[in-house]
Amino acid sequence: MLSLSSHSLAYNKTTVTISESTCHSSFFKFSYNKSHYHTPLLTSNHFSAASPPLLRTATALCCNATADPYLGSSSDADVIIVGAGVAGSALAYTLAKDGRHVHVIERNLREPDRIVGELLQPGGYLKLIELGLEDCVEQIDAQRVLGYVLFKDGKKTKLPYPLEKFRADVAGRCFHNGRFIQRMREKAAALHHVRMEQGTVISLLEQDNRTIVGVLYKTKDGQEHKAYAPLTIVCDGCFSKLRRSLCYPKVEVTSSCVGLVLENCQLPFENYGHVILADPSPILFYRISSTEVRCLVDIPGQRVGKAGMANYLKAMVASQIPPELHDAFISAIDHGKIRTMPNSSMPADPYPTPGALLMGDAFNMRHPLTGGGMTVALSDIVVLRNLLKPICDLNDATSLCIHLESFYLLRKPMASTINTLAGALYKVFLASPNEPRKELRQACFDYLSLGHYFSSGPIALLSGLNPCPLSLIHHFFAVAFYGVGRLLLPFPSFERIGIGARIVLCAVGIIFPIIKAEGLRQMFFPTSIPAFYRAPAYR
Ligand SMILES: Cc1cc2nc3c(=O)[nH]c(=O)nc-3n(C[C@H](O)[C@H](O)[C@H](O)COP(=O)(O)OP(=O)(O)OC[C@H]3O[C@@H](n4cnc5c(N)ncnc54)[C@H](O)[C@@H]3O)c2cc1C
Repeated sequence: MLSLSSHSLAYNKTTVTISESTCHSSFFKFSYNKSHYHTPLLTSNHFSAASPPLLRTATALCCNATADPYLGSSSDADVIIVGAGVAGSALAYTLAKDGRHVHVIERNLREPDRIVGELLQPGGYLKLIELGLEDCVEQIDAQRVLGYVLFKDGKKTKLPYPLEKFRADVAGRCFHNGRFIQRMREKAAALHHVRMEQGTVISLLEQDNRTIVGVLYKTKDGQEHKAYAPLTIVCDGCFSKLRRSLCYPKVEVTSSCVGLVLENCQLPFENYGHVILADPSPILFYRISSTEVRCLVDIPGQRVGKAGMANYLKAMVASQIPPELHDAFISAIDHGKIRTMPNSSMPADPYPTPGALLMGDAFNMRHPLTGGGMTVALSDIVVLRNLLKPICDLNDATSLCIHLESFYLLRKPMASTINTLAGALYKVFLASPNEPRKELRQACFDYLSLGHYFSSGPIALLSGLNPCPLSLIHHFFAVAFYGVGRLLLPFPSFERIGIGARIVLCAVGIIFPIIKAEGLRQMFFPTSIPAFYRAPAYR
């Protein structure tokens, strides 16, 4: 009997016990001790045999493969997953559930403690349901999120998610990111086909200078190992070191987020995310547990040094937040646990490589204002799972690569909609002395305040409930023309016509570069791209 005294769940003193009947494989035995250490008890490196890549044949799964007894020979991994964060752990569970033998290599199996990935949009929750992972937001003190409240210059507007058509449990969720990840890791590790190992992947192993055949990684004892599999999926997050050989990484750091935890305070609107349209840029609040509220302050461009951060927050930010949160905000600053993360954007620009794929932030990033990263990652996993399902043998790397080209296309509606909205909304919400920018920002607030279709449309896009790029364009330009209309009515002047024209130009200038980076054709004319129709011998 392997006892998983999951200290990651210590706040409710839950003890999870996995019996040997649910944990056949000795590969993924972890001791979860009270210091949060998840130490592999057995690290015999079954996959990392030094057998030359050519001799490796991963288990060819039949399409209707059932759970084979996991023999653990060096040729058993079908897929290597690098990183067990949000994407890696969800992917490991998904592929193993489909009968693949999965070897996950994660740098640190302790519960992560970070300020990212704490709000899962309802669209992401729907993807969790599709993957059978929705119970991972249970028992972690996750809070339901029903929409957003937007604050600007003393006014506020409530933007509920359009959830009427969905079953009762569908909503957004806020939680501690580490608790969520740990739940997914536990769920994945409990599957027969998953071997989860602590180690840092150093590089990808290439054969014939073109096909990725596995990884070189280092375990805690400093030893280097090689692991081989017909497919390696790199999910090593936003600071990925491995993405360089698999994509053209155009990482742009637009701003940074400063994170604080406010304790024992009430949000003005419980169960809603709060977005303050502050100067110079937005501030977010959302409840991440029954006693804690996360505050993320966006700081554009310039970097504020750690030493000056507390003063900056008190002098520049405190006066702009809702009065109900003021004291808790100051107290959080005084307690000093101020964390910072860069906000990076990176369009997906893969270099299709036989034997390897990128997923999650390693593959594609967007500004975190709209909390879309996990939704995109989970949606990508659903697309990939559906594409891989009918493929019995992952060994034909070239044909697999061609087949997976359609992945880049099929992911587009969800990914492009969320990415474009995040980038565009962030720019619209930035305070600016420029007159058309000011008008556009105000028009956006007023348009959303109209309610009904005018708020539910954009919020359905943001939440991943309606991943439709055309609807995004429609609402974006509707905001711009709403701004122009207000300027010109009831009596237009030449000056106002001039500003109106500049509002439209400004809107084009904001959205067009993002769409261009996303790929105009893939985003709006996906069926004109032949890959999907070329591949489906397997469909
Ligand atoms: C400030 C901020 C706030 C955000 N807020 C939200 C939000 O509210 N909602 C939302 O949906 N998204 C949010 N995001 C984005 C979200 O955090 C990411 O999209 C999501 O975490 C991506 O998951 P991932 O699995 O790709 O990366 P991660 O979850 O970061 O996982 C990467 C994993 O890879 C491991 N790893 C790294 N290198 C190696 C290596 N060499 N070998 C082995 N393992 C390795 C790491 O230890 C880690 O466990 C936010 C981002 C930022 C910057």
